Amino acid sequence: ALMITDECINCDVCEPECPNDAIYMGLEIYEIDPNKCTECVGHFDEPQCVQICPVECIPLHPDWQESKEQLFAKFERLTAAK
Ligand code: SF4
Ligand code: SF4
Repeated sequence: ALMITDECINCDVCEPECPNDAIYMGLEIYEIDPNKCTECVGHFDEPQCVQICPVECIPLHPDWQESKEQLFAKFERLTAAK
């Protein structure tokens, strides 16, 4: 999963781009729900939020390092839940 750092300027452009609805407004800045972020695996070749963020504040979450297979399994769980 990815995460949003405190460099976020709350520009609002990433939230509607997330295919998993993983991005939401937190207390002060936008945040990513790591249980929902597949790094866009299953939907797109590149993380859409990273592509669009103007300040490049969306790195890999250090505590949520997952393989492509794990990310795809998460995508399948999220899709099945819909
Ligand atoms: Fe959403 Fe993709 Fe960004 Fe994860 S990488 S938060 S799934 S847009
Ligand atoms: Fe914050 Fe980047 Fe999302 Fe804008 S695109 S709200 S700066 S994380």
